[in-house]
Amino acid sequence: MIGAMLGDMIGAPYEFDRGDKTKNFPLFGRGNNFTDDSVMTIAVAEALMNARGKSDDGIRAALVRSMQKWGRRYPDAGYGGRFIRWLFTENPMPNNSFGNGSAMRASAAGWLFDDLETTRHTAALTADVSHNHPEGIKGAEATAAAIFLARTGSSKAEIKAYIEREFGYDLSRTCAELRPTNRMDETCQVTMPLVFAAFLESTDFEDAVRNAVSLGGDTDTIACIAGSIAEAFYGVPEDIATEGRNRLPADMLAVLERFDAETARTADSGSASDKSRISFVIGDITQMNADAIVNAANKSLLGGSGVDGAIHRAAGPDLLEECRKLHGCNTGEAKITGGYRLKAKYVIHTVGPVYNARDLQCETLLHACYVHSLDLAKQYHLHSVAFPAISTGVYGYPKKEAAAVALAAISEWLSAHPDYSMDVIIVCYDAEMYGVYQSQARFE
Ligand code: ADP
Repeated sequence: MIGAMLGDMIGAPYEFDRGDKTKNFPLFGRGNNFTDDSVMTIAVAEALMNARGKSDDGIRAALVRSMQKWGRRYPDAGYGGRFIRWLFTENPMPNNSFGNGSAMRASAAGWLFDDLETTRHTAALTADVSHNHPEGIKGAEATAAAIFLARTGSSKAEIKAYIEREFGYDLSRTCAELRPTNRMDETCQVTMPLVFAAFLESTDFEDAVRNAVSLGGDTDTIACIAGSIAEAFYGVPEDIATEGRNRLPADMLAVLERFDAETARTADSGSASDKSRISFVIGDITQMNADAIVNAANKSLLGGSGVDGAIHRAAGPDLLEECRKLHGCNTGEAKITGGYRLKAKYVIHTVGPVYNARDLQCETLLHACYVHSLDLAKQYHLHSVAFPAISTGVYGYPKKEAAAVALAAISEWLSAHPDYSMDVIIVCYDAEMYGVYQSQARFE
């Protein structure tokens, strides 16, 4: 959901054709403030979390209550004229709108449900309370469906085919074809093909948002919706997510945090039908919301420098207490403990090799670290594991070679366990390491 709000903030300065339709602009600067897109995204998310499992009427009532509460709290966020009246009317009725407001606020529906049917049905309800024109409803459903498909491992080709088939949008035009003629237009039917062009042509989250802004017109909303889908497909680099969070007021941030907690995978949520995948983020592994994070430990398992020290500091002294009972670990092997104060429930400690160019064993041992860590995660029925770049710090393994070994080991493991869903997140401490992984990754 942060992806939607980031798109909104990044696109906001260029709305109403104020940009020059380029991808080359500063991502954050002055004027990157959230607008109505973010406020309503939060409102819908809160309503759906509160009303999950209730009847359709119960969900509708929660949506109206929540949108009015948040809209009245932030009345100057930039709503359209008709919608602002809706926000301030007692018992407002739907007004047959096909404005793109229904699509920009729907992203939470893409994350909260376990199947596509419920996802679409709930997204339709989020539109129905105000934007009940068939195009308004389609915009919300298409956004949520694309998020659901992206986060459950569908390829871009599969997402494109589904959206064209189910919603009838023409997704054949590229950004280059759409850009010259696009003008400010706030309808779902014009906005959605722009959104999908921006997403389908992108190479990562940032690129999707840049594509969206470069199309001009209603840039904050195009980028909001494209950002919400791109987040589900690629994840959001931690540094960009932090910029976004820093621009949200405490009350909106609190809903976002609750949402992240409620949508984080828990130990038993994975099923064989969820496809496994590898994603990359820039960030601090101690902050990751995975079932387990992996520690690049030393043989003593009693803490050390680098990522090892950071994990022990974040988890607190009880982690060391448990580690003492494990009596160390051999290079290439892995042991598991609780996560204590970390968001992750478990820490998998693995000992990478100290690099030595002449020792062929190094590669075998580094490969084994990844395989044994994933074996252990599966043994504990875990379905999401975050890895640091093992051995690439004080142990001196060249980054490019280490990334190649890591990716090969993880892909081999995933292929060897096709019936087990495993979300592998590679946490790069900085942009350089992220670049190394991106260049080593082989996307189909
Ligand atoms: P090793 O001893 O296995 O080389 P290090 O901790 O020295 O382990 O470094 C491993 C990698 O982890 C390095 O690429 C380093 O940049 C990275 N790293 C350090 N701290 C963190 C952190 N908090 N989150 C993610 N990665 C980190």
